[in-house]
Amino acid sequence: TQRFIWPMAQFGQIINMYQRARASSARIFGLMDEPSRLAEDPDAEDLVVDEGAVEYDHVSFGYDDETIVSDVNFAVEGGETLALVGPTGAGKSTVLKLLLRMYDVDDGAIRIDGQDVRDVTLKSLRRSIGYVGQSSYLFYGSVRENITYGTFDATDEEVREAAKAAEAHEFIENLPDGYDTMVGERGVKLSGGQRQRVTIARAVLKDPDVLVLDEATSDVDTETEMLIQRSLDRLTADRTTFAIAHRLSTIRDADTILVLEGGEVVERGSHEELLDEDGLYAHLWGVQAGEIDELPQEFIDRAQE
Ligand code: ADP
Repeated sequence: TQRFIWPMAQFGQIINMYQRARASSARIFGLMDEPSRLAEDPDAEDLVVDEGAVEYDHVSFGYDDETIVSDVNFAVEGGETLALVGPTGAGKSTVLKLLLRMYDVDDGAIRIDGQDVRDVTLKSLRRSIGYVGQSSYLFYGSVRENITYGTFDATDEEVREAAKAAEAHEFIENLPDGYDTMVGERGVKLSGGQRQRVTIARAVLKDPDVLVLDEATSDVDTETEMLIQRSLDRLTADRTTFAIAHRLSTIRDADTILVLEGGEVVERGSHEELLDEDGLYAHLWGVQAGEIDELPQEFIDRAQE
């Protein structure tokens, strides 16, 4: 079943995981723009971000009776990058939806610079958090509108600077109408790597205090991948970042990696520390690096429990 595609040894499984990743990032993005169904405290004040420190204080959550996120506990200092890895269905997206307050925790609390996300206005919360996903959505409109989406008062100069930082300026200039080219449904069709860089430009312009990245790179050629990685490095530098990674090579420099399994943190540490631990992460790394053929049965059995 879907849950057990973790070893990623076979091509079909990779495709499957990719599609699932796309579907879940589309969900995140869609939800970010929806008026929340959650009640806002009438006394809510705007979130004030200084350091950008984020704390998950023994957080548990389930969509219904089943617990999906279980006692997740960690602190990220301002400017750090925290990566979430784990099998499909482990709860990575759910952990981040709680940060955006698409749902409220059942137990525990999430705080940004000491402010419980339930006590601040939703508008200020979502303004402070940027999202870049693999299938980030371009709507039918000009490239410029797609970049300024969410940042309404940007000047043309600012838009260009953001596009340059996202390694997108050059290809945009080569489109039939440059920044006025219509894209999205019915518009000029952009490649996956181009769409991704437009959404990175959007995030650069938004300049959020906290960034949520859902998988850094997709199936693009090596040069495009390098451009995307370089622009993401700029975007995440000195900014608190949460990254969901499917390919471990994109998050090996993260300050902290949390390995989630069945909604629980089963391993945590830096890339080097986790390799030394020789557990799930180390074996996944081995599989993805081609050092071992497949995930040892014990890890597959464990995921099925
Ligand atoms: P991951 O991002 O690690 O793949 P998710 O957070 O997307 O995991 O999913 C964790 C579990 O929660 C899965 O079993 C999934 O089916 C379930 N789930 C995700 N979204 C919803 C939802 N909106 N309603 C009910 N269950 C959900």
